[in-house]
Amino acid sequence: MEQKEIQELSEKILRLKKERNAVILAHFYQRPEIQDVADFIGDSLSLSQQAASTDAEVIIFCGVHFMAESASILSPGKIVVLPDEHAGCPMADMIDAVQLVCKKQEIPGVIVVCYVNTSAEVKAECDIACTSANAVKVVASLPPDRPILFVPDKNLGLYIAAQTGREMILWEGYCNTHDKLTAEDILKAKAEHPEALVMVHPECRPEVTALADKVSSTAGMINFAAASDAREFIIGTEMGILHPLKKRCPDKQFYMASKKLMCPNMKKTTLDKVYQALVTLEPRVDVPEEIRERAIVCLERMMAIK
Ligand code: SF4
Repeated sequence: MEQKEIQELSEKILRLKKERNAVILAHFYQRPEIQDVADFIGDSLSLSQQAASTDAEVIIFCGVHFMAESASILSPGKIVVLPDEHAGCPMADMIDAVQLVCKKQEIPGVIVVCYVNTSAEVKAECDIACTSANAVKVVASLPPDRPILFVPDKNLGLYIAAQTGREMILWEGYCNTHDKLTAEDILKAKAEHPEALVMVHPECRPEVTALADKVSSTAGMINFAAASDAREFIIGTEMGILHPLKKRCPDKQFYMASKKLMCPNMKKTTLDKVYQALVTLEPRVDVPEEIRERAIVCLERMMAIK
């Protein structure tokens, strides 16, 4: 899309957004032009908090399905629209509620911690949720004498276990995008940019996080880069983060650790689809009340942890 078209469509979106009393929430992995029309850009944790506190009538959620579900769980009575109904998360699809209930029965006294990258049905079967920003705090807050089952991301689970010293039973899920990043990719990028610090997401494999100067959520990476004296950074997360990094730190250099770091689902949302979503208020994401009442418990427990 040409820059002029982007600008015209963005202006139409901003006008219609006001008429609809809508708020646009966008994940850091969204396309730059989507982030630029959003009222709020963030990671899963901050977007959940934003969804819970907004007084807009309509939430246009530019992210993937489980995120829009969390917004619907936290904002009952609001219209939540996901501009592309097929924007899902393959990791979230690696576990369902039936599988989880069966697993829980095998582990007496288990506490189930779910990464927010899970469906509402799965959350309804869990004790507490976490995001990559608060996962270590969440697990550290749990009683030491109870077994913990962590679902669905085994890489994040391994990272938290190493940070907290807690043994955890891990689900065998993973992010199709972050799991592709290899230690060789990092070593190659470091050889090309020897002065750069390496920042990676904890959804990456353990041999990748072991090579990083900073392992963090997306929001944590942006704050780290802004506060650091370093001028160059190698990035080990989805490439959408380059946009907010360059905006926040215009005088610093950022290099992707690999071209593979692109989530096709995050890129399904386009400006056209956001505009159509505001016109039609479809497609909606609506969590049934019976699931919502149970799923909100683990999200509220997570949000109570400071
Ligand atoms: S980046 Fe990974 S975890 Fe995030 S939506 Fe894409 S597949 Fe799911």
